[in-house]
Amino acid sequence: MKPTKPFPIPVRVAYSCLKCPAYCCTYAEIEVTPRDVARLAGHFKIDYVQAEARYTKAKAGEGIRLLRHRKDDVFESACMLLDQEKRRCTVYAARPAVCRAYPDASRCGYYDFLKFEREQQGDPEYIARA
Ligand code: SF4
Ligand code: SF4
Repeated sequence: MKPTKPFPIPVRVAYSCLKCPAYCCTYAEIEVTPRDVARLAGHFKIDYVQAEARYTKAKAGEGIRLLRHRKDDVFESACMLLDQEKRRCTVYAARPAVCRAYPDASRCGYYDFLKFEREQQGDPEYIARA
């Protein structure tokens, strides 16, 4: 008899990125790996060196690369790959591993804060600037 695969355990999360203004995409230090850069290069059909220069910058003295930012309409600045109007990632299928993994828990601290503030203010559209 063939071994059966275990059932995937559904992960229930207590946050909704669809109701959030992409706060985590505004973190100043979103680290990318060479594999992430290669994925972005493939997505944009450019070479690795171009992708690294265009979308990332060096973190001074630490030998790591961070996603570049630009001025944001909602928060001070955000990852340059964020669609600022829709508040969605423009490279979702090719986003870096750290973006896929975040928040790596069933809760998101910012979302809890946002939900609380929206309830308090009686405004479901309220944007909390943490
Ligand atoms: S801050 Fe939390 S709820 Fe908002 S987009 Fe990021 S993970 Fe989703
Ligand atoms: S790559 Fe996409 S998911 Fe990651 S920080 Fe930038 S906009 Fe957000």
